[in-house]
Amino acid sequence: MSDGGRLLVCATPIGNLGDVTARVLDALREATVIVAEDTRVTRKLLARYDIHTPLERYDEATAAARTPELVERISAGARVALVSDAGTPGISDPGERLVDACLLAGLPVDVLPGASAIVTALVASGLPTRAFYFGGFLPRKAGELRRTLESLSKLEATLIFYESPRRTAATVSLIAEVFPARRAAMARELTKLHEEVLRGTTVELAASLDGRELKGEVVLLVGPPVPEEAPAADDAAVRAAVERLVSEGLTRKDAVKRVAAESGVPRNDVYRIALG
Ligand code: SAM
Repeated sequence: MSDGGRLLVCATPIGNLGDVTARVLDALREATVIVAEDTRVTRKLLARYDIHTPLERYDEATAAARTPELVERISAGARVALVSDAGTPGISDPGERLVDACLLAGLPVDVLPGASAIVTALVASGLPTRAFYFGGFLPRKAGELRRTLESLSKLEATLIFYESPRRTAATVSLIAEVFPARRAAMARELTKLHEEVLRGTTVELAASLDGRELKGEVVLLVGPPVPEEAPAADDAAVRAAVERLVSEGLTRKDAVKRVAAESGVPRNDVYRIALG
């Protein structure tokens, strides 16, 4: 391996061309070549900052063929700057393949951080940030979409998804069916002229999107489970189930844990009822 060869993973703006770091601009200027998901988008950024580094395409269609060739060029000393069409490369784009291939080949990979639609949308949503789950692009078919949402129903985290503007209204309406009591947000065209962030319950969001034809880029967010979603406790049944398990030899603590897990009633409620 010759000196200096490395992959530079460069975060670029998700809209506003001012959102690029000084370090990324230096890396783009000094790279042997820039590989970009959409060369037309990247050309605008390069023109704005007067950067003339050679630009090549690296997208979903070309990644399989180009990855080994790029690994070889980096091994031979090339400094390859990777950019996606928006934000941080490697998130829901072919960049992750090149990163993985370079690491497998023992080549240095530098990640230069910057904008990402996920984090920008999460913070703008006002939803809890303590724990969050990023699910990438949602499935297109309604059945699969419902199953995906239901499989995430117990996750104590804000859920974040990318969605096409065309499907957003229908998707939010299904989210409102599955999670009627939760808070949600729709973030569109972040950092751009027509930036819009809608916030409310899932049902309110579905109503305000109904019949709207959206344009641009969209992130959908759904808040974590709320107490109203937990099944109401049948006090007598809960107490009887705990007593039965205790009589079978479980400690009271383990009995409460088991009843909570099996019934879906929150553990604190089972405790309160069992003691009452
Ligand atoms: N790698 C990027 C990142 O770090 O955010 C995301 C690339 S992903 C292929 C493209 C998706 O990101 C879009 O379909 C949209 O869901 C979201 N996105 C990108 N830019 C956005 C923006 N300005 N506002 C809202 N969502 C955006």
